[in-house]
Amino acid sequence: MRAIEVTKPGELRIVDREPPREPQAGHVVVGIRAMGICGSDIHILHGQNPFATYPRIIGHEAAGEVLAVASDVTAVSPGDRVVVDPVISCGECPACRIGRQNVCSRLQVRGVHTDGMAREQLLLPASCLHVFRKDLPFETAVLCEPFTIAAETLWRGRVTGADTLLLFGAGPIGQVILQGARRLGAKVLVTDVVPERLDLAKCMGASDAFDSSKEGLREWVRSSTDGVGPSVTVDAVGRADIFELAVEMAAPAGRIVVLGFGPEPSRIAERSITARELDILGSRLHNNKFPEALGWIERGEVNPRALVSHTFRMEEVEKAIDLIEHAPRETCKVILTF
Ligand code: MN
Repeated sequence: MRAIEVTKPGELRIVDREPPREPQAGHVVVGIRAMGICGSDIHILHGQNPFATYPRIIGHEAAGEVLAVASDVTAVSPGDRVVVDPVISCGECPACRIGRQNVCSRLQVRGVHTDGMAREQLLLPASCLHVFRKDLPFETAVLCEPFTIAAETLWRGRVTGADTLLLFGAGPIGQVILQGARRLGAKVLVTDVVPERLDLAKCMGASDAFDSSKEGLREWVRSSTDGVGPSVTVDAVGRADIFELAVEMAAPAGRIVVLGFGPEPSRIAERSITARELDILGSRLHNNKFPEALGWIERGEVNPRALVSHTFRMEEVEKAIDLIEHAPRETCKVILTF
């Protein structure tokens, strides 16, 4: 059975592994059919993910088919199509006890801290699986995980249809947040440096898009928000200077949601937060958002297909990663099939 393993930083290989045995209590054998390549997979390859250990089978965005179930499993049956929640939490720590298992003190993410879904078959607890409609292609359903990131971001930012949202970054994560915010009816302003991504954002309902490699970002934000500033800002780029800019431009009572893991500190004066009573909110992974995100996709309220720029076979993974890294103008979400 083949798997995609980052053996050590800088080295990615297709390896042969034992297929899973008969599922034990509570467990299921899943045949993976599609996997999304994420920026964090590429960070693991380059040794830039602070949470990853090696060797590591990557893959945290996956859709597949149930092949076998343990005798006590009733929630899923062979033949069901499922998406896999990559978040593993302990259920006992203070964060888990208040229902915030995505920031569990013993948090593990499949494909990051522990082996992930980039393999032909694997054994998983039934509790991490969510069944989707049989007429939904695997290559579409696999976008569910990125949409859980959007659901979490919008929940953290308390976004409603009354908001004007300024979004930094129109890559795959920016795009899912845009679609989720448009679904709520919010006005969304998008900025990025890649013109093709700004064009896609406009097609997906951004009211305006600005190329931030050009001068005049502040003036554009001011004039697009009647001089008030955005009620919500999302930094889907994760840079210290963007965080500073987000605080500077926020409307009174504004909310700023950050998703980055950049190590660079920002210089933000306390008074700039206090004077306008700003909320600064971190958003990490997702907190039980699979049912919600899957509902958006199944009801056609978001457009995952518009985000998929390329599909490759799993053995072409290096070619796929090379394309993502060297052709940002042509790529958005890249999917591997198994
Ligand atoms: Mn991802």
